Order: sequence, then C-alpha cells, then structure tokens
Amino acid sequence: MDVAVVTVGDELLVGETENTNASWLGRRLAERGATVRRMLVVPDEQDVIANSVARYADAFDAVVVTGGLGPTHDDVTLDGVAHAFDLEMVEHEDAVIWFDEHVEYSRQDLVSGTMKLPDGASMIPNDEGVAPGAIVENVYVLPGVPDEMRAMYERIQEDFQGEQITTEIVHSEGPESALIDVLNEANEHFDVRVGSYPNDGVRLKIAATDPDEVERAAEWLRDRV
Ligand code: ATP
Repeated sequence: MDVAVVTVGDELLVGETENTNASWLGRRLAERGATVRRMLVVPDEQDVIANSVARYADAFDAVVVTGGLGPTHDDVTLDGVAHAFDLEMVEHEDAVIWFDEHVEYSRQDLVSGTMKLPDGASMIPNDEGVAPGAIVENVYVLPGVPDEMRAMYERIQEDFQGEQITTEIVHSEGPESALIDVLNEANEHFDVRVGSYPNDGVRLKIAATDPDEVERAAEWLRDRV
C-alpha cells in the first residue's frame, strides 16, 4: 500500500516547529508494512492544500494529512480537503453527538464551525482534544497537536497495511566512498535494498521482505566492511 503524508503549517516551513508528526507517522506506517512514497510540508493555504491532496489522493492508495484542523482563521485544512473533492463543509452529526457526550463544556462555547466536516466524510473522534478528524475517500485528516494526532492515528491504523519489511543494521567505521564496490556487489548478490547513511561512520540498513535474505546479506556485509 502506497501512502503520502502531508503536514500543514506555516510554522513547519520556517523550522519553528519540528516536524515530528511526519517522522512519527513515517515510522508507524512503515511498521504496518505500508510504503510511504511522499512527505510534503505545505503552508496554511487552502488552494495549496487542495491541490496537493487532490494530486496525492489520485496517485497513492491513501493520504494522511496533519495540522490546521481547528476552527481558527489559519486552520484551513478541512476546507482544502473539501475543495479537493468538490464538497461542501457541513455540520457533521457524529461530531456533534461525540462533542455532547465527551466534552465537558457546552456547545454554545464552541467556536463556530468546529463541528463542520466535508459533506459525506466519516468523523474520527479526537480523544485528546476537541476538533474532530475526518476520512474523505482515501484521505485521512488528523490534528497537528502531536498527542491528538497520535491518539487519532491509533483509531485508523488498521486501514494501513502491506508486506512486512525486515531490516538489519550493519555499522562501518570507514568513509562511505570506501564502500562503493562492496555495496554494488551486495545489491547484485542479494534480493535486498541496502541504504547507506554516513554520520560518524556509516550505518548500512539492509531491508527486504524475506528475513533470511536480510540475515544472509547482513552477515556477508559484516565480513567485508
Ligand atoms: P488546533 O485545533 O489546536 O488549532 P490543529 O490541529 O489546528 O490544532 P495546528 O494549529 O496546525 O493544529 O498546530 C497546533 C500545534 O501542534 C502547533 O503549534 C505545533 O506545536 C503542533 N504541530 C503542528 N503540526 C505539527 C507537526 N507536523 N509536527 C509536530 N508538531 C506539530
């Protein structure tokens, strides 16, 4: 299953907020065997969100979007997603019921628009906050606040799957340039992907669906690097 992750927020683009949602989702999706094909950061601009979501929804099996979910003026993600699918934003009955049953303060105190979702969306309850998430066709819209995003992901995670990938790490002290031949040879000998990540030595990551093949490639590499 091929997935794209879209994180929304001006503050991400200027590095004010570290994009931990992207790395957390990347890890969790990979653990389920889903293949994350793209990660995109976009500003709080409805048109950009709409265009990116429409393109990725078409190109991939699923899109996970985080951030810009609340009802304040700079939260335009749901409007962007609605626009991507040519849908109206409407008050969502399940969101209202959830709010009445689970949130302590009154609906009169809620910022108007909080319970609106794209028409026909499924609501994802927010166990850690107020603003509901949504599923629109193959697009999953989650909050930006990490605790809220993670709790909501737990509710939808089973929708993401794929072949389990086994990985093994081999460390090398030498410079990456000294590994070129041995990495080429490993790629020819074994049905695995070998990633090479230099940073104080080199971390070689061997990945494949067949655990035995990964083990064989790792042993072979350990003898040579
Ligand atoms: P709210 O309903 O409270 O407005 P939201 O879902 O609209 O929440 P944002 O307004 O986009 O989320 O972000 C709220 C906070 O969540 C940010 O100030 C930031 O601290 C954090 N946050 C947002 N996006 C990310 C991200 N990609 N990685 C890590 N933290 C993030």
